[in-house]
Amino acid sequence: MQAMVLKKLKTALEWTDLPNREPGPGEIRVKVAACGVCRTDLHVVDGELPNPKIPIVPGHEIVGRIDAIGAGVKGLEIEERAGIPWLGHTCGVCPYCTGGHENLCDHPLFTGYTRDGGFATSVIADARFAFPLGETGNDVSLAPLLCAGLIGWRSLTIAGGGKKLGLYGFGAAAHILAQVAKWQERSVFAFTRDGDIATQDFAKSLGAVWAGGSSEMPPEPLDAAIIFAPVGALVPLALKAVCKGGRVVCAGIHMSDIPGFSYNLLWEERQILSVANLTRKDGMEFLRLVPEIGIVTKTTAYPLRQANEALADLRAGRFEGAAVLVP
Ligand SMILES: [Zn+2]
Ligand SMILES: [Zn+2]
Repeated sequence: MQAMVLKKLKTALEWTDLPNREPGPGEIRVKVAACGVCRTDLHVVDGELPNPKIPIVPGHEIVGRIDAIGAGVKGLEIEERAGIPWLGHTCGVCPYCTGGHENLCDHPLFTGYTRDGGFATSVIADARFAFPLGETGNDVSLAPLLCAGLIGWRSLTIAGGGKKLGLYGFGAAAHILAQVAKWQERSVFAFTRDGDIATQDFAKSLGAVWAGGSSEMPPEPLDAAIIFAPVGALVPLALKAVCKGGRVVCAGIHMSDIPGFSYNLLWEERQILSVANLTRKDGMEFLRLVPEIGIVTKTTAYPLRQANEALADLRAGRFEGAAVLVP
């Protein structure tokens, strides 16, 4: 098998031949058909997340077909299409796992961060964390749902049921979530980098009722805001934009420091929350709804060997929607 491997933090990924190992007990091997590129991959490459496995094969939005099954795996079959998400393994016994919060497990493994991921022709996964994907939809368009979609879904749930929803950073996750929110009959207010008219137009094309720069105030107070951009300075801006009792949800795994702000911005029961990882329940719920909602992902496909170009384009905001690597 071949993979794009991060051998040293803050360096380019390298095309590498690796042994194609057999899955162990409880594992499956998946022949990768598509793997989305997520902002978290940039944080891994940049060394912004603690204790990555190095060398590591990044990538945690994997769509492929199972081509080998280890001992003891139930409910999955050879040739079945499966999705491998960010949450790659949990301990099953810590208070978080047993309390229904496996996203907060004390001893987790994360695909493409602490276990090898999908920037590769093949990947080994813990079978319990793989999602059967069925045969509806093509591989490339499904890939971004595996993180941008799932974490977006969890963020939306945590944002509460308010009708007026702000989305800060209109990339892969927000472009999916805007469609979900519209389906839920909410109004989406999209915030982009100041002056990024192309992305504001993209947001409106997906049903946003308003789009503007992140330093602007929306035309009316919001019930909740979700921040996808890794920019701490957006937190006080979003607090200003939400109404009394409003929620500001930070959906990214990493963010620059949040600047000091007046307590007045938090007063009146405004809340700041973060979303960490996903549970398998989030994934099942969301993937079940995908065909019903009719989510259309906008993707830019790159050959696997061009993973570095895809990461650079993501960093520079050079495409709308999501980048997807194809082996
Ligand atoms: Zn991700
Ligand atoms: Zn645990």
